[in-house]
Amino acid sequence: MTSLNQILLNPAIQLGADLDGWFAAGGGLGLDAALADPGAIIPALEAAGLRGMGGAGFPTHRKWAAAAAAQNTDRTVVCNGNEDEPGTFKDRHLLRWTPHQVIEGALIAALAIGARRVFLYINPQQIEALAEMRRAVAQWADTDRLRAVERRIGATLELTVFPTSGRYIGGEETAVISSLEGGFPFPRRKPPFPAESGYRGTPTLINNTETLANVPHILRHGAAWYRRLGLGEAVGTKLYSLSGDVLRPGLYELPMGTPLQDLIFVHGGGMLEGKAFKAVFTGGPSNTLLTARDLDVALDFDSVRARRSRLGTGAMIVISEGTSIVRKVAEYIDFFAKGSCGQCPPCKAGTFQMARLLDRVDSGRAVPADLAALYNLCQILPGSGRCGLIDGAVTVVESSLHTFPAEYRIGEPSPVP
Ligand code: SF4
Repeated sequence: MTSLNQILLNPAIQLGADLDGWFAAGGGLGLDAALADPGAIIPALEAAGLRGMGGAGFPTHRKWAAAAAAQNTDRTVVCNGNEDEPGTFKDRHLLRWTPHQVIEGALIAALAIGARRVFLYINPQQIEALAEMRRAVAQWADTDRLRAVERRIGATLELTVFPTSGRYIGGEETAVISSLEGGFPFPRRKPPFPAESGYRGTPTLINNTETLANVPHILRHGAAWYRRLGLGEAVGTKLYSLSGDVLRPGLYELPMGTPLQDLIFVHGGGMLEGKAFKAVFTGGPSNTLLTARDLDVALDFDSVRARRSRLGTGAMIVISEGTSIVRKVAEYIDFFAKGSCGQCPPCKAGTFQMARLLDRVDSGRAVPADLAALYNLCQILPGSGRCGLIDGAVTVVESSLHTFPAEYRIGEPSPVP
């Protein structure tokens, strides 16, 4: 059994919704350490092993170093709080309840790369998070710490709360830039990467909210402290959004590397009464399904990848026996079809077509050719889009076809639980 190990969700921090409360709870000390030696910030993140918490798990220090090394000294930081995929509800909590923790992380990022502006990019459906961030940003104005950052970077630092389009695709890095520039959140192909050319051509560092929230603590307590929070080879903590057929769904901050079975059966209280475990949609529903034989997997980026899935955002949607996998997958593909921006015809048509075929299977109206078409789409669609939406949608369909082939019945509707 693993213990709760709360850093980001520390109740003392949550009480610090006002800036004075945040400073009284030890907030600001990470920024002070960063101000004392800005050149040590990126090496500290490298030593800590911090990785992106928005899905990709990319080493944070590498992104920061790329932005800091860009020739153009007019640089931008973006805190990505677009969070919109099913089953993920961590960033809205941080923004709503610990706004200063997030802002301090963003200020340290600005200091590290010499940015002149910070955008706090927030999903407007999270009304309270948006309001809290606006209030929090106003409280930082005219503080000695903000002035100290500006002296170090040699410019006035603009802090802007930016409501996103509220669309799922708006969280994709290049779509973030398009939105900030006033356009529709259309993703574009990379390179150039945002760290080279992002917002209005400036080198732009885009980090997930949870990633930035970790930064003040690493600077305050040191890389070795952070590494020790994880289990085994994993480092730090992770926010896991646990939902589905468990007794205690919710947001859990646990050591990175916590076994899946501990998350579900210890912290989550186990399955709902009378229900047996069947599978987990992991990391937002665009990854390979985990099943009972994966319950021992350590929930960290590398261990989950070794099971050919992805930790993603840390979302875990638990499914019980009797629940139709086809119906669940149909719901998620419908979500992706509606979320597709339509720039790439294979994505727009392919997700729509997969959603239609899945609905036919689910309702018992499918014929053998429908299943063949579904398999065929899984072969031809990957790699056909400018962003990862289409690949994620195919992954979950392919995974369900491979793992639960018997649920794809011809002429027989999915059972009602
Ligand atoms: Fe838009 Fe889909 Fe193309 Fe991504 S893959 S850019 S969501 S059409």
